[in-house]
Amino acid sequence: MTHQALYREWRPRIFDEVVEQRHVVYALRQAVISGQIVHAYLFSGTRGTGKTTLAKIFARAINCENPQNGNPCNQCVICEGMLNGSLLDIVEMDAASNNSVENIRRICDEVVFMPSQARFKVYIIDEVHMLSTGAFNALLKTLEEPPSHAVFILATTEPHRIPATILSRCQRYEFRRIPIDSLIGRLAEIAAKDDFDVDREALKTIAVLADGALRDAISLLDQAHSSFPGKIGRDQILDLTGVVQDEFLQQISEALFEADAAALLTLIDELVMTGRDLARFVSDLAQHFRNVLVCQVTEDPQQLVRATAKTLDDMRQLAERVSTDRLIAVIKGLSALLSDLRWAADMRTALEIGLIRLMNEQIVGSKPDRLIPDGPPAAPDPKPPAKPAGRSTPPPPATDRQAEPEQTSETAQAESEQASEADTDASEIWQRSLDRLLADGHMALYLFCRPAMPVITDDRLHLVFDPADRINYQEACQDNSLRILKQAASAAASREIAVQPSLNEQAESASNDVQPGTNQPAWIQKIKDAADTLGVPVEMEE
Ligand SMILES: [Zn+2]
Repeated sequence: MTHQALYREWRPRIFDEVVEQRHVVYALRQAVISGQIVHAYLFSGTRGTGKTTLAKIFARAINCENPQNGNPCNQCVICEGMLNGSLLDIVEMDAASNNSVENIRRICDEVVFMPSQARFKVYIIDEVHMLSTGAFNALLKTLEEPPSHAVFILATTEPHRIPATILSRCQRYEFRRIPIDSLIGRLAEIAAKDDFDVDREALKTIAVLADGALRDAISLLDQAHSSFPGKIGRDQILDLTGVVQDEFLQQISEALFEADAAALLTLIDELVMTGRDLARFVSDLAQHFRNVLVCQVTEDPQQLVRATAKTLDDMRQLAERVSTDRLIAVIKGLSALLSDLRWAADMRTALEIGLIRLMNEQIVGSKPDRLIPDGPPAAPDPKPPAKPAGRSTPPPPATDRQAEPEQTSETAQAESEQASEADTDASEIWQRSLDRLLADGHMALYLFCRPAMPVITDDRLHLVFDPADRINYQEACQDNSLRILKQAASAAASREIAVQPSLNEQAESASNDVQPGTNQPAWIQKIKDAADTLGVPVEMEE
């Protein structure tokens, strides 16, 4: 893999070449010069910040036959043996894949023997927090009474997962995230030496994406160089990583806060058509609003927001228009949406619904005069939906769906005749109801209910949802939703008609390989009968 090659090529081989982590470099080099070597070191910090690089330099430096001002010479037999991996006195182990007590026991058994060539036997254990409890206990025994020639260098991204008994026996060094300017400087140096045609904006974008990890930054530069023949700009880097561009995020925010559902859906369509990763997009959008929030609370956001000057300007403008509470609500909503997306059968619909719901929450929370009635249950609609223009039939009086009067056999007979006539039009009525929802501006409810399959029995429109659309079903069950649906369906059918959402539990049972219950609720039987009569494709397993 070429991107590893570039990183290896540029991996520092002496302390003097390490430009970051000065505090660690200084302390380690002093230890080499003074000869004060301890038996256990712990290097902790986020990935790609140079922990293993410094561990290897240190391992060579303490064993080098001809160290120069604390640096390894990289030319003596010992240094060369370590660089080409032939020297057995240096053992590197990845605890993520060797975390058992046996792995550590083997090390502890062999550590007692003298090194073959070097002064110190050095064990570099990466991702040490992955060790099992038994393995930690075995390691602890060795750390309590280490042979004089043993040096352990433990590296971890999660020091809080290491037992205190181990921590207390280690000399600890914390590796910091590499600042963005240092990353850019290093990338520019590499690009210049290797003659890459890459502009400053591209380097800055790489540095932002690498999030403090030099290894990731160099890998990304390498990948860009091998992927694009010509000049590498910011767009190429964004293309490569599938990151949504700032301008696009800005447009989405505008649509969200201006409650422009049509624009929002068009932008999502664009997103889907260009094949972007939708989950990544939601996470980018949340990050975008986090940055807007930072612009709102600090005078000097440049330090905390990794963005270009133009993007920062746009963010500042948005920050002035939107309240802190709204921003926080949107960020929370996006994070919930992100976890919903993981389980969504249809990510696109889930994304559309999620964003439109967020949009409506904004309106309900802030602009009562522009209320959209099918808001979330947390913010119930205090007003009935606005009467749409051009409605021919007056809306039927709202009745409690739980307390409908029992029908006498005579009226039931009459109504079922009426119903059977209407049944032939079940999908037509449903289609007209959906059109009505759209026309009346109930965009979210429209999207939620669109996947449902309509079945009409008596004076009821059953909306049968697939188990995969459970979220849609739950939204349709909200009191608010039911009222709006009932109005739309009644208007579409030109008579009063109740709406009852249901989950197609037959399909769910079948898909879970669970024997369906023998006592079917009456409505399932009704749907089955109606479906049989009409030849509607409802899957009903006996
Ligand atoms: Zn040497």
